This record gives sequence, C-alpha cells and structure tokens, in this order.
Amino acid sequence: MKIETTAIKSTENHLKNLRPVSAPLYLSTTFHRNEDGTYNEGFLYTRHNNPNRQILEQSIATLENGKVAYAFSSGMAAISAIFQSLKAGDHVILPDDVYFNIYLLCKEVLRRWDLQYTLVDMTDLEAVELAFFDNTALVWIETPSNPQLKITDIQAIADLAHAKNALVAVDNTWPSPVLQQPLDLGADIVMHSTTKYFGGHSDVLGGCVVLKEQNELAERLSRIQVLSGAVPSPFDCWLVTRGIQTLPLRVKTQSQNAMQLAQFLEQHLQIERVLYPGLESHPQYEIAKQQMKGFGGMLAVLVKGDAKRAIEITHQLKLFTVATSLGGVESLIEHRKSVEGEESLTPDNLLRLSIGLENVEDLIADWEQALKGC
Ligand code: PLP
Repeated sequence: MKIETTAIKSTENHLKNLRPVSAPLYLSTTFHRNEDGTYNEGFLYTRHNNPNRQILEQSIATLENGKVAYAFSSGMAAISAIFQSLKAGDHVILPDDVYFNIYLLCKEVLRRWDLQYTLVDMTDLEAVELAFFDNTALVWIETPSNPQLKITDIQAIADLAHAKNALVAVDNTWPSPVLQQPLDLGADIVMHSTTKYFGGHSDVLGGCVVLKEQNELAERLSRIQVLSGAVPSPFDCWLVTRGIQTLPLRVKTQSQNAMQLAQFLEQHLQIERVLYPGLESHPQYEIAKQQMKGFGGMLAVLVKGDAKRAIEITHQLKLFTVATSLGGVESLIEHRKSVEGEESLTPDNLLRLSIGLENVEDLIADWEQALKGC
C-alpha cells in the first residue's frame, strides 16, 4: 500500500468491542453497507441517524415519558418541524406572550405558507375556547411563559383542544422534565430547546420534539427531520447527553436559588413586583403547585422605574452576566424589551433572570449592593 492509502486504512476504527463506559463520539457521516444490503444496527448516514443522536433521542423520550423523540440543530428548528407537520391553511392558537421568535416565525415565514394563528391569553380558558376555528389543528403552550412566567393549566387546555380534535404541544424548555411532564398531563407533543437546561453549560445549540405515541405524526416528523436536514452534529448530541446526566441536580439547585432570591426581591422597596410561580403572590400559584414538581430557575423582576433604570441595575450587578439565553450554570440577566424590539408586549421595567449554581447568599448580596448603588 502506498502512504496515501495507508493514511486512510490505518485510521479506520479497529476498536469495536471495547465496551466504553462513556459513549464514544461517532463523527462518521456514513456507515459500512453489508453484502446483503443491510446496515449494522440500521445506521446508514448521519443525517438519517447516528449513534450519538440515538442515545440522546432515547434519553429525552424516556425522561418525558414519551414514545419517540427527534433531535434538531436548535430549538427553533424543532419548532419549525412541528409547524411543518401541519397542512397549509391550518390554524394554531399561540399564547399572547409566546417566546418572541415563535411569533416572528409564524408572522414572517409561515404566513407565506398560509399558516393561520391567533394569540390568546392562555390563563383565560374562555378566551382559549373562543379562539378555536374549524381548521384549528394545534394549541401551543408555553408554561411558565417567556418572559412573564404565566402558568397555563396543561390538563384543562388539553381537554378543550381534544374535544375540538386539535393537538396540544408544550414548549417544556423552562421547567425541563425534572419539574414538569406535559405528556402525563394530556399534551400530545413536547418540545425543548436543549440549548438551555439540557445542555446546561451555554455551549451547545439544540432542539428536540417528543411524542406520546409512535403514530402517523411521528412518521411525518421523522421524515421532516431527515429531509429538511436540520439535525444536530454528533458532538452536539454528545454534549447535550452529557448535560442530561447532571440535569436533575442542576435544576433542583437552580429552583431553590431562584425561590430564595424571589422571596428576597419581593420584599425589597425598590422592586415593584417579582414574577415567579413559586411565590404565593403569583396569580396562577395553585396551578403551578399542582402541575410542577418545583418552580424552576427563571424569574422576572419589575423594578420601580423605567427601562433606563432597569438597564442601569443590570450593569451594577457583579455576579449576573448581561446576556441572552438561560439554563446554564451561570446566572444571566437581560432587559427583555430591548431584545424583543418594537412589537414586544413585555413591560419596560422587566428584567429576566436565569439563576445559576452560584451560592444563593452571594446572589442575594449582589442584588443588595446593586440596588443600593443605583
Ligand atoms: N423556546 C423557548 C422557551 C426559548 O426560551 C427559546 C430560546 O431562548 C427557544 C424556544 C428557541 O431555542 P433555540 O435558541 O435553541 O433555537
């Protein structure tokens, strides 16, 4: 063999039976085809499937008590796949404070494909019931919502939607399956931005769709995943899978920290209001207590004053990084309205906090000094 050939053949995988404890990274985009035309374990080409993706999908399906899961390259790719599974002309009901980019996706992209949508306050069941049309195919729930932390009664909406032959999808990114399992509460579809709590370290983008049943919708989503091709790389899958191993511990600590900080801020004279579903003052506290196992690491703070004052506070804080995103080990803060832009319904004085794994006493002391300093 000449050196060019040796360079190829000598680096082939010869270590097939080592049984490693941690899953190896399968970067290979393609897999050997057997003489009889089959593929070992069914792996053909990485856009179709890949061992790292399979491990991730099976893990998320199990965590959500679902039957199947499909992983995507971002949360938005997962969301787009769900909408692509609908027919042109279908109508969807969206929460009025749905994650802003979902609204923009519907308005700027999917309208051209004749997707109809109505924005509704999901905490008002009568308003939701009035929003159904004959062509309503899907109700989208986000609970707690982003950024106002409204809580939607998943079971009640699922009952309403199923009576009208519509499906229910829940964006479960914020609570994660550690705190909320929507399929057990009647939802048909669960969606995640795995960029957030699953990944947990602010270093990987990803998304996932989980279904309660291996049905015709599952087949459609599987085809959209493979044919649209917005799949995560093997390394992305490996990173998210690694994140899952510490997900329950992280989320529990982040929830405890968020609760203590929320209680502190609620009493502070310079704070107008704290939106956190674990506080008894939260309008849907009773529903949150019923459908969640904890209240999560996200909270919103309405400071006394205007947008300028709110932004000033973010820069006085020393332990909170001013950045978008959430769910990582580090605490982040963001003035939401300036990120969402002109059409945003978010109050001017609202700051969104993603609480990390720092010691909560340090986080509280940081807020104390920041509010004194302004
Ligand atoms: N859903 C929620 C609730 C989010 O907060 C986000 C991102 O912030 C997304 C979906 C979109 O996820 P990604 O940024 O991974 O596309």
